[in-house]
Amino acid sequence: MVRCNKCREEAAADAPQLCRKHFMDYVEDTIHNTIASRCLFSRDDRIGVGCSGGKDSTVLLSVLMKLGYNVTALAVDEGIAGYRDASLASLKEYCASNRLPLKTLSFAEVSGITLDAHAAVKKPACTGCGKMRRHLLNRLGHGFDAVAVGHNLDDEAQGILMNLLRNQIAKLSATGPVAGITEVAGFVRRVKPLYFVTEKQVMAYAVLIGLPVSFDECPYARYSYRAQVRDALNDLEAVQAGAKRRIVEWFMRVKPKLMEAMKKEAGAPISADQVSEFLRASGVNA
Ligand code: SF4
Repeated sequence: MVRCNKCREEAAADAPQLCRKHFMDYVEDTIHNTIASRCLFSRDDRIGVGCSGGKDSTVLLSVLMKLGYNVTALAVDEGIAGYRDASLASLKEYCASNRLPLKTLSFAEVSGITLDAHAAVKKPACTGCGKMRRHLLNRLGHGFDAVAVGHNLDDEAQGILMNLLRNQIAKLSATGPVAGITEVAGFVRRVKPLYFVTEKQVMAYAVLIGLPVSFDECPYARYSYRAQVRDALNDLEAVQAGAKRRIVEWFMRVKPKLMEAMKKEAGAPISADQVSEFLRASGVNA
């Protein structure tokens, strides 16, 4: 029998190898430490949680509730038949059974067209969808002190690599546990409490507490650039365990210098030499 590293009871998870109770404590403590150490929000704040009915956002909602934060679920319905309607039905049920407020907004309400209709004429769907989702989530988030989204460590490692591979340094510097470089009028603060929790840990937590979540993937995801980077990173992780975490840790070391430089550059493109200089100044061998 595989045993918990802390209490020697039977292990329920393998990364880290812990029993059910200690694994849940580990995930909740990691989220709590991220919120506290990165000053994401406080218990006096009103938090909108971007929810899809999937595992990440539902785990986030559940843990924030358990930790005593004042949360409201915010959901964007892109209009993806057979996928989003099913996950939002689970989310509605979950919110109703936990007496949680839920606000929704759909692509069709705002633009008159569903993502399915858009994708039928314009592929790939993800680029336009991502921008529209962020816009609608921001609209739903007006009046809240912050909008928390369920991006996990795997998502962030993918985002960092995507921006590096495209040489999008301004976009890269704007990612992190708090999105953006400076506060912009009209944009609600967007924060990521799951930043240091891996996808595998989120899945294990959802299964262990029996959350009614959908593990299905969006039917358009496989056409995206993110899916290519995700698959490549998963291959790398299989031979270099911890590669994703090291990418995120590397980024957290260089981010302050990148942000400083981006504020000065005010969004202008920067050269490869400047990037090398930022990395050197951050003590990282490029
Ligand atoms: S995978 Fe692409 S199309 Fe599907 S919800 Fe995400 S961004 Fe939208």
